[in-house]
Amino acid sequence: MSALEIRNVRKDFGRTRVLREVSLSIDSGEFLILVGPSGCGKSTLMNAIAGLEPVTDGSILIGNEEVTWRTPAERDIAMVFQSYALYPSMTVRQNIAFGLEMRKVPKAEREATVERVAKLLQITPLLDRKPSQLSGGQRQRVAMGRAIARQPTVYLFDEPLSNLDAKLRVEMRTEIKKLHQTLGTTIVYVTHDQIEAMTLADRIAVMREGRLLQLGTPDEVYNDPVDMFVASFMGSPS
Ligand code: ADP
Ligand code: MG
Repeated sequence: MSALEIRNVRKDFGRTRVLREVSLSIDSGEFLILVGPSGCGKSTLMNAIAGLEPVTDGSILIGNEEVTWRTPAERDIAMVFQSYALYPSMTVRQNIAFGLEMRKVPKAEREATVERVAKLLQITPLLDRKPSQLSGGQRQRVAMGRAIARQPTVYLFDEPLSNLDAKLRVEMRTEIKKLHQTLGTTIVYVTHDQIEAMTLADRIAVMREGRLLQLGTPDEVYNDPVDMFVASFMGSPS
């Protein structure tokens, strides 16, 4: 079953065409990594999937339901973006539970979910702190916890680790991989870090100037690039 399907999506900002007929189907449980140079349209595509930006043309299906014209809240997704802020006045516990509260999940179930997610991400000792009392890495974990608590059909990560230092990035990468393996989640993940792409991805999608150039396993994209651009971008052997 496909968890996410993008059909002929086009996006114009005024007269600038940013996405050109992008089509992509992602299986349930798949970890898809989206790479490409800065400005090629990765975030625009993520925002379109999330419903933060309306598409100019084409359609988006999540869990086999068309969601093209639904609001972000009506889509079965959770996002972790680089700049996706926590609610500063709420504790970590409240931040994680917030999405569940919105969906009217009963209190006991909410509390159990928060405990489970906190344990998974090793943030239990932080539950009663405010975001201002956390380090950057801890905040990113909480943002991830908030996403996981919702148990959506699809997770969207847009360069979630790029603000972290190198050591933490490696730690979080391992953590994300573990989460994916434990929970069997479907993930679309944007990165400009080739190592991240090669180690996390089931499949890699390479984008350039609003187009998908190649979609394949890390091995295919690295060893059998479709053109010079993909080869040099992936650092393929020549
Ligand atoms: P990436 O995430 O791959 O770096 P983006 O999707 O952010 O690229 O941007 C793709 C292109 O779309 C860029 O040229 C950018 O300037 C343009 N763009 C992005 N958002 C907007 C917007 N809200 N209005 C106008 N142009 C935009
Ligand atoms: Mg971006």
